[in-house]
Amino acid sequence: MKYQADLETAKSNKAGNKKLVKKLKRIPERKLDDLFHEKHDEVFEEIDCLECANCCKTTSPIFRDIDIKRLSKRLRLKPAEFIDQYLRIDDDQDYVLQSSPCAFLMDDNKCSVYEDRPKACREYPHTDRKRMYQILPLTQRNTLVCPAVSRIFEELKVEMI
Ligand code: SF4
Ligand code: SF4
Repeated sequence: MKYQADLETAKSNKAGNKKLVKKLKRIPERKLDDLFHEKHDEVFEEIDCLECANCCKTTSPIFRDIDIKRLSKRLRLKPAEFIDQYLRIDDDQDYVLQSSPCAFLMDDNKCSVYEDRPKACREYPHTDRKRMYQILPLTQRNTLVCPAVSRIFEELKVEMI
């Protein structure tokens, strides 16, 4: 994977990232969102998801009912058949993929159901959403999955620590 070095950086900087999150928690909500959104835009100017696909290879999105309905329709399956074929229920009682990499990921890292992919896939890694304070622990964990999040954390550390 092209961006492996970013994931290694996150792995070897877990303590630093934890310290950063502690500092980020003290920042007012709006300012925190602005900080993340600015870094998100900068980092995704440099990173090409098609040269990565690590989220699709190693983790699963949550599939909401509406995602299941849309994808079943696309694949001409009944929702129950789609669930049987692709999904399982995780410890939080959410539907997730039975296996990784995702069955819809193609060899060129494109998504074969791109237009109908789950909402969680559209929004990953969530660093451009509002109320970032609500997902700081999740975002910290995502430094180990998503090179873009790892880079965002490294850049924030330069400014804040
Ligand atoms: S969102 Fe992150 S992990 Fe997923 S493909 Fe893009 S850079 Fe890679
Ligand atoms: S549905 Fe598409 S975008 Fe979502 S995890 Fe699978 S391959 Fe990736």
